[in-house]
Amino acid sequence: MTHVVVLGAGYAGLGAAIQLGVRTKRRGDVRVTLVNAQERFTERLRLPMTATGQEVAELDIPELLAGTGVEFVRGWVTAVDADAKTVRVDDDRVLPYDMLVYGLGSAADTSAVPGADEHAYSLSGAQDAESLAGRLKRLESGTVVVAGSGLTGIESAAEIAERYPALEVVLMGRQEPGAAMNAKAKAYLRSALERLGVQVRAGVEVVKVLPDAVELAGGEVVAADAVLWTSGTRVSPLAAAAGLTVDERGRVVTDGTLRSVSHPEVYAVGDAAAITQGYGVMHGTCQSGMPTGVHAALSIERVLKGKRAKDFRFGYYHTPVSLGRGDAVVQFTHPDDSARRIYLTGRLAVRYKETVTAAPWPTFGRMKKMPASGAIWPRGGRFTRAGR
Ligand SMILES: Cc1cc2nc3c(=O)[nH]c(=O)nc-3n(C[C@H](O)[C@H](O)[C@H](O)COP(=O)(O)OP(=O)(O)OC[C@H]3O[C@@H](n4cnc5c(N)ncnc54)[C@H](O)[C@@H]3O)c2cc1C
Repeated sequence: MTHVVVLGAGYAGLGAAIQLGVRTKRRGDVRVTLVNAQERFTERLRLPMTATGQEVAELDIPELLAGTGVEFVRGWVTAVDADAKTVRVDDDRVLPYDMLVYGLGSAADTSAVPGADEHAYSLSGAQDAESLAGRLKRLESGTVVVAGSGLTGIESAAEIAERYPALEVVLMGRQEPGAAMNAKAKAYLRSALERLGVQVRAGVEVVKVLPDAVELAGGEVVAADAVLWTSGTRVSPLAAAAGLTVDERGRVVTDGTLRSVSHPEVYAVGDAAAITQGYGVMHGTCQSGMPTGVHAALSIERVLKGKRAKDFRFGYYHTPVSLGRGDAVVQFTHPDDSARRIYLTGRLAVRYKETVTAAPWPTFGRMKKMPASGAIWPRGGRFTRAGR
C-alpha cells in the first residue's frame, strides 16, 4: 500500500487530492489522505466580500470528497519529518506517508513591518476576514487604511468603500494600483477607485503599524481606525524546518515535474511551491494553483505506474480585478503575465470575474467523474517551451 498524504485543501491541494483519489481508486494499493485546518473550503478570492459582511457559500470539503476514496483529516499540521516521512497533526497525531503533496498555501506577510502582526487585520483566511468584518460593522465613521496596493489591496479597498461609504478608505503602497496593467486598463481602475471615494497614496512605504495609525517612511503618521495589511505574502515555515530545499521566501523548490529537488517523495503545489517556468519563478494565483495540484497528481500517478513524469507547463492568461460588486477590470495577459492590449471593464468584466471566482468548486465536482476535465489549462506556448 502506498500512502499519499496531501497537506492543505486550498485550490491546489484539493485538486491534487481529488485527482489522486479518483485516478488511483481502482488500483486498490494507494491510500490518499487530505489534511486541512478546516472542513469548510476557503474561497480566498471572495475574502474581500467576507471582510465586508457579505454572505458567501458554505462549501464543505468532506462532502465534496464523497465517492473519491480520499480520507479527510481535519487538523493543523505542526511539523513534517522528512527523514521519518511523517506529518504531525495538532501535536497529538502522527501520519506516516510514502509520498507527500505539500500545498499549505500562503498568508499575508504581517511580519514585514513592526506592529502589523499585532495591530493590522489581514485577509489570509476566513477568520481574519470575519474579524475585519466585525470591526467595520462597529465603525460608524473614521479611516480605514489598506496597506499594500497590489490586487488584494485594490479589491479590498473598493469593496470597503462601496459597502461603507461613510468611512474614509485610504489605499497606500509603493506601487501605483494596477501597475502591471496596460495604460488604459490602469486608468479605468484609477477612475473606478476615485468614483468609489478611495484615496490612493502611491509611492509611499508603510514602516510601522501603530494601534491607531500607520507610520510612513519619512516620519508621517496617518491616523487609522482600522488597518488592513495586504502587502506581500509569506509561507509556512514547516517546509524549511523539515529540511526541504526552499527558496529565499521559504517556498519548496521543485523540479519540472513538481517534485521537491531535495526529497523526491515530496511534491509541492500552489503558493507554497517555487516552480520555475521559461519566464521565471511562478507567482501564486488561483489560476496557476489549481493546475499545479492536478499536475502533481498526474506526476504521482505516472511514477506509481513506473513511467516518467512529464514537466509542468503553465502560461498566465488574465488578471481579473473586482472593483466592488458593480464594477471590475479584467486585464488579459501574455503567458509570462505581462499585460496585453485587450482588457474588459464594467458589467462584462463583472460577469467575467464572477464566472472565474465561482468556477473552482464546480470544477472540483466535475473532476470526480471526469478527472481529465481538470487537466485543461494554457501551457504557455513558446514562453514555457524547454530550451527557449
Ligand atoms: C484576498 C485575496 C484575493 C485573491 N484573489 C485572487 C484572484 O482574483 N485570482 C487569483 O488567481 N488568485 C487570487 N488570490 C490568490 C489565491 O487565492 C492563491 O494564489 C491561492 O489561494 C493559492 O492556492 P493554494 O492551494 O496554494 O493555497 P490556499 O488556497 O491558501 O490553501 C491552503 C490551505 O492550507 C490550509 N493550511 C495552511 N497551513 C496549514 C496547516 N499548518 N495545517 C493545516 N492546514 C493548513 C489553509 O487553511 C488552506 O485551506 C487571492 C488571494 C487573496 C488573499
